[in-house]
Amino acid sequence: MCIFCKIVNKEIPSNIILEDENFIAFHDINPKAPVHILAIPKVHVDSFDQMSADMMQKMTPFIQNVAKEVNIHKSGYRVITNIGENGGQEVGHLHFHILGGAKLRWGHFSDADPQGHF
Ligand code: 5GP
Ligand code: ZN
Repeated sequence: MCIFCKIVNKEIPSNIILEDENFIAFHDINPKAPVHILAIPKVHVDSFDQMSADMMQKMTPFIQNVAKEVNIHKSGYRVITNIGENGGQEVGHLHFHILGGAKLRWGHFSDADPQGHF
């Protein structure tokens, strides 16, 4: 069983912010911003690439409610999902990072030539 499935099953403790029948949101163990929350489906899905449109539809208001719960919905926040090797995904269970609580920097995403692909 993957590490986030264990969090869903409460076999690994986590700091839960919001939970409903389909999703759970908890604080990232290694925060990259003053607010850094992970929102995940309770069922195992490998990544966004494997996610159904139906799940995305349900997850949208869940993520919005997480932002409200921690009061970053007005100040602004960022939602990120890393996908696979090049996306930098380290945990193979779909998760959305919800980042906020301060003005976020925009990243230097790759050392490759950003003009190089097309
Ligand atoms: P990824 O790199 O896959 O997009 O992000 C994985 C995230 O999960 C990382 O930000 C990492 O800090 C977080 N993480 C990994 N293991 C645990 C854990 O056991 N508990 C919590 N709360 N976060 C975790
Ligand atoms: Zn899993």
